[in-house]
Amino acid sequence: MSKSRKKEPTLYTQIITNNEEISPDVHVISFKRDFDFMPGQVVKIGIDTDHPPRIYSICSGNHEEEVQILFNIKEDGFLTPKMGAMIPGDKLLVSKPYGSFIGVNEPAWWIATGTGIAPFYSMFRSGMEENKKLIHGVAALNQFYFEDELEWALGSNYVRCCSRETSCDVFPGRVTAYLSEINELPNVKFYLCGKPLMVVEVRDLLIEKGVPYENILAEIYF
Ligand SMILES: Cc1cc2nc3c(=O)[nH]c(=O)nc-3n(C[C@H](O)[C@H](O)[C@H](O)COP(=O)(O)OP(=O)(O)OC[C@H]3O[C@@H](n4cnc5c(N)ncnc54)[C@H](O)[C@@H]3O)c2cc1C
Repeated sequence: MSKSRKKEPTLYTQIITNNEEISPDVHVISFKRDFDFMPGQVVKIGIDTDHPPRIYSICSGNHEEEVQILFNIKEDGFLTPKMGAMIPGDKLLVSKPYGSFIGVNEPAWWIATGTGIAPFYSMFRSGMEENKKLIHGVAALNQFYFEDELEWALGSNYVRCCSRETSCDVFPGRVTAYLSEINELPNVKFYLCGKPLMVVEVRDLLIEKGVPYENILAEIYF
């Protein structure tokens, strides 16, 4: 592992071991884990020191041999089209993990949209799934990443919400619509992860339903 020249943050070279397209334009890229992290944390990733690195949640368990990152390709973006085209042996620049959106063992609801499921999948793979309810909102049915594994492990505590397609066992609508239909929410922490609008809407809805502000923790993908 060699240090890049950039001062802040320090980025380290990692060799890609796998890059799998798990759904159209959505990839899981992997490299060997040579650091410890807390489930929910992020890393910065770049491909050179001339462009600012982007932030990604770690999407693998904290005892697994490889670190995985779940990302969707923004076709007009700088980094993700390049990451999507990488093959094993290619190099990425990756920071040490950081961040305070960290999983806990106490009961909680995990609410995600899209690739915002990444930190919760990391928490799940790190053994924190007990007493958790995971609500995942997507637009299309093929965006329920890791759904077989999550359904098998979490059963009725894994709720899929799909806004544009329907299927049995899937709530027809957005996460906010699903939450609106619940009369009484439990006294637990609510972890939210996704795009700014979703986080704001869900946060407002939870507060409207009586959830104390301090019980809502959010990671915003901007
Ligand atoms: C805490 C955090 C965690 C995150 N975790 C993840 C994750 O796990 N997975 C994931 O997929 N993403 C995650 N993100 C988002 C990620 O950091 C990147 O923003 C994303 O992958 C896009 O990177 P890019 O370089 O391909 O696109 P960028 O080049 O950054 O462009 C992003 C979008 O903005 C548009 N854009 C760029 N420049 C301009 C401009 N000047 N004016 C208007 N529009 C512009 C582009 O067209 C594109 O659509 C996270 C973000 C944060 C803050």
